[in-house]
Amino acid sequence: RGQVSIDRIEQILAVPPTIVDRPDARPLPVVRGELEAHGLTYTFSDSEQPALRDIDFTIRPGETVAIVGSIGSGKSTLANVLPRLVEVSPGQVFLDGYDVTELELDDLRRAIAYVPQESFLFSMTIAENIRYGRPEATEEEVVAAAQKARVDAEIRDFPQGYQTLVGERGITLSGGQRQRVALARAFLIDAPILLLDDALSSVDNQTAEDILKQLARGSERKTIIFITHRLTAAAATDRILVMERGTIAESGSHIELLRENGLYRRLWDQQELEEVLL
Ligand code: ADP
Ligand code: MG
Repeated sequence: RGQVSIDRIEQILAVPPTIVDRPDARPLPVVRGELEAHGLTYTFSDSEQPALRDIDFTIRPGETVAIVGSIGSGKSTLANVLPRLVEVSPGQVFLDGYDVTELELDDLRRAIAYVPQESFLFSMTIAENIRYGRPEATEEEVVAAAQKARVDAEIRDFPQGYQTLVGERGITLSGGQRQRVALARAFLIDAPILLLDDALSSVDNQTAEDILKQLARGSERKTIIFITHRLTAAAATDRILVMERGTIAESGSHIELLRENGLYRRLWDQQELEEVLL
């Protein structure tokens, strides 16, 4: 069985990546963290409907922006476009004014700490998992990242603390603990842009809000894109983009969007009702 797995892994590693540097790719200087989209449109090759349709936005350095919208509205596709995990045509997405398709992939991806909903934790210690993106980080830095992700106290309660093994040979973390360990990993990379795709879905509301508020307060503020299905967490951000069938249907602060009495208002009322019923 092991041999079969190794053969399979070798097959995967042998496939040349389809998204690569252009021959004239340029290095990225110091990143401010401004993101822009102009007429961003993308259709998956096996689909007829565009997953993203004529999207425009500017996200300023240090701004915290939430993206909300029903399942299938295009949030994750948008998230994947930014670090070029999904490749769009040139002239649509810009980082600090540079067309992302012209940048060196390594530089672009180093500028964006991306946390998906289901992050992969390896069968190694918690400290090693947190350190994964920056193996040379010190113990203090690992602990500081875990504190920022509000998971330090729970890690210390484990039998071997930060040296506790997770995965098949070790302990099983809860969904919320896994997400916060993944978040600590992203904090440790210390990229200027933090991209969270429903990465706090299993973390309780109050803790998620605390994490966000603290990030927004920091002196070296990052640009944060916070995709969430929980509107109460989105409400705490600077600005909310509401997606619907691949477009940005509305954008504004929580208060502005409630006043607009449109899609956001409907989603908000619906969520309030669900909370009462639960
Ligand atoms: P959300 O994250 O808001 O739930 P997605 O960005 O995952 O939405 O999906 C947007 C649309 O694109 C949906 O219609 C979905 O079915 C489609 N889609 C997402 N990923 C793929 C893919 N890899 N191949 C084809 N279609 C996809
Ligand atoms: Mg999604």
